Amino acid sequence: MRGAVIHGKGDVRFEERPAPTIQHPTDAVIKMSATCVCGSDLWTYRGIATVKEPTPFGHEYCGIVEEVGSAVRSVKRGQFVIGSFFASDNTCPHCRAGYQTSCQHRELVAGAQAPRLRVPLADGTLVATPDLPPDDLIPSLLALSDVMGTGWFGAEAADVKPGKTVAVVGDGAVGLLAVLSARQMGAGRVIVMSRRETRQKLARTYGATDIVPERGDDAVARIMDLTEGVGADSVVECVGTQESMMQAIKSTRPGGSIGYVGVPHGVSLDGQDLFFRHVRLHGGPAPVRRFLPQLIDLVWNRKIDPGKVFDLTLPLAEVAEGYRAMDTRRAIKTLLRP
Ligand SMILES: [Zn+2]
Repeated sequence: MRGAVIHGKGDVRFEERPAPTIQHPTDAVIKMSATCVCGSDLWTYRGIATVKEPTPFGHEYCGIVEEVGSAVRSVKRGQFVIGSFFASDNTCPHCRAGYQTSCQHRELVAGAQAPRLRVPLADGTLVATPDLPPDDLIPSLLALSDVMGTGWFGAEAADVKPGKTVAVVGDGAVGLLAVLSARQMGAGRVIVMSRRETRQKLARTYGATDIVPERGDDAVARIMDLTEGVGADSVVECVGTQESMMQAIKSTRPGGSIGYVGVPHGVSLDGQDLFFRHVRLHGGPAPVRRFLPQLIDLVWNRKIDPGKVFDLTLPLAEVAEGYRAMDTRRAIKTLLRP
């Protein structure tokens, strides 16, 4: 089969790779219905995270179970399933606590930008939809594999509560879905920091009440203006730079919480500065698996439509163009169809 492989900075190729097979009795192999390009992989694409050897790329997936190992019980051939970028057993202490991305037996699921994918620990990782989905639901179901679950975790980690004021740093797909998540959780006011018109529009569709186009300390000043000098109750950080992290911390009121889901690159925090700010920090790779049943239900009943973040759809063979479009910000997020 042919799939995406990253060779180095800006070099994604669609090339021959071995087709996946069942390697362990707990594996499943799925036939991909749709996959996509993740903003977190742009760090690698831009050469900020290095590639040691050609590596199968992509970690967001949904599709039809084609084959299962002899020990798999909870999913079967022919079901439509979604899973997270980390496979998890869903039984260890960390999984039971709701942190499946810290599973004691976690395995990274890589190489999803391909027609077929091996998913380890299928029982603990994959969740089936109630039935085969209609085609128009596939983008929103695919979004649950990472980006929507990550936005949701960001909002949850930021302790979003009904009626509260939420600020979102970052207008990429995760930031936009953090807006949607905050609204679902009943936030009273959702301020999103964004300077691009198409993204501002989608943020409003998802329930943003205020848009702040400034960055850095200017953005913090605007948040303070908007909250009568208090700061936001909850802030979701969806970028991962020093500037965005400080913007999040300084925008939070004393006693407030920051959920950080942008993969940090070169971020360092000053302990004493943090001490006197009185804020909570919680983040990390989103335990998407925890949220899958609830989010599948919301999508299945058409209560949320996270698939709107896909503003570019390409055939899988054009995966390299999918990365270019996101790298240059021509696209918010690229969906790929095998
Ligand atoms: Zn586990």
